[in-house]
Amino acid sequence: MRASLSAEAARQLAEYLLEHLIPIRSQVLAEIRAHSDEIPTARSLSDEALLDHLPQLFVDLGKYLLSGADPQMRAIILDTARKHGETRASQGYQLTELIREIGIVHSLIVDYGLEPFLLARPDLADSADGFSKVIGTFFEDSVVGSIQRYVDKFNDEARQANEKLRAANQRLSELDAFRLQLVRTFHHELGNALNALNFSIEFVTQTPDASTQREMLGACRRSVREMAALLTQLDDYALLLGREAPVQSETIDVAQFARELEVSLLAMIRDAGMSLEMQVDPKLHVIQSDRARIKQIVNNLVTNAIKYRKPQPSEGRMVIQVRSLSAESWELSVEDFGIGIPQEHLESIFNEFQRFPPSEQIAGRGLGLAITKHLVEELKGVIKVTSEVDQGTRFVVTLPKQIGS
Ligand code: ADP
Repeated sequence: MRASLSAEAARQLAEYLLEHLIPIRSQVLAEIRAHSDEIPTARSLSDEALLDHLPQLFVDLGKYLLSGADPQMRAIILDTARKHGETRASQGYQLTELIREIGIVHSLIVDYGLEPFLLARPDLADSADGFSKVIGTFFEDSVVGSIQRYVDKFNDEARQANEKLRAANQRLSELDAFRLQLVRTFHHELGNALNALNFSIEFVTQTPDASTQREMLGACRRSVREMAALLTQLDDYALLLGREAPVQSETIDVAQFARELEVSLLAMIRDAGMSLEMQVDPKLHVIQSDRARIKQIVNNLVTNAIKYRKPQPSEGRMVIQVRSLSAESWELSVEDFGIGIPQEHLESIFNEFQRFPPSEQIAGRGLGLAITKHLVEELKGVIKVTSEVDQGTRFVVTLPKQIGS
């Protein structure tokens, strides 16, 4: 390329271009404005902001021509163009807009710079191809340099997306392992209960002693209850895995429902040496929702309030509050004064199989809150939690007053 361009011819073209900077600049402005459908961001830029890089570009192009596009000069152009790309990116240009704009500048320099120059200098006609090539390379380098900022951004986004995908994959593998473990545990526990049941039945049929028979029948009943509880847990978990169960919406008298809930929970709460304070907003009369699901939500939250209580009996209070929020929504909260949850775990508390110290010493599978959240979402509500270690935990469920079935 260098050989095909005489230094003198290149110098003359560079001078010509610089002398015609102002008219070419006006053409560039008009052309960019005329292409505002392709470069819409340019509409928000002043003429000055659109054109302020052109004088430097003309000087650089001149040097580029003189150097015959030598590697050192190309490196300088790449760097200048990179800065230009950063400016345009910060002005909100999309990549296609930037490339289109560079294309416009390129073709106008050819149409209003190179071509009139060659017309005026027929003696340099032999250099025409060489000039075109060098100008073409200059603008290729300009494109390569100015899109760098966009390429970096794409790479960055791709890296972040990959990172998220990797984390999601890892979570899925963990879930898979947990689920396998869950199947094994259920199998084991059902097997135990079944063995115990078999053993008790054998014993009942073999012993003539009526009191031993009664005792064994009691054991049979316990095994059957255990198996039924395991089946209920499996059924709840199936909900999370996508089992479809239609929402059953009905009119619920809130005060009466709260009393029912209280009665059904009291035995369990008292057994744990705890007490319940039920606060019902008298302004909340009826709601249209799924009674069984709400019951299960409260049950799960109360079970946790019991499980994660402090060892001292004096701390065994819990408060269930039901109140109207607006014409459309109501709120149900369960507050305890138990061991609390460290802040760093609050976000992941609703994920499947998430349990945090010291809960390892307390029976559980880390599924209750995931199921609760799922139930709340089926009722078109949201669940939030606030907690402080050693102070207690409050779960707040916000629900619509009316949901369709
Ligand atoms: P599980 O109780 O079977 O572990 P959950 O999904 O119901 O499963 O709860 C997940 C974890 O959240 C528990 O292991 C415990 O660490 C924490 N947690 C839930 N509720 C409470 C609460 N009321 N007080 C303190 N920690 C709680």
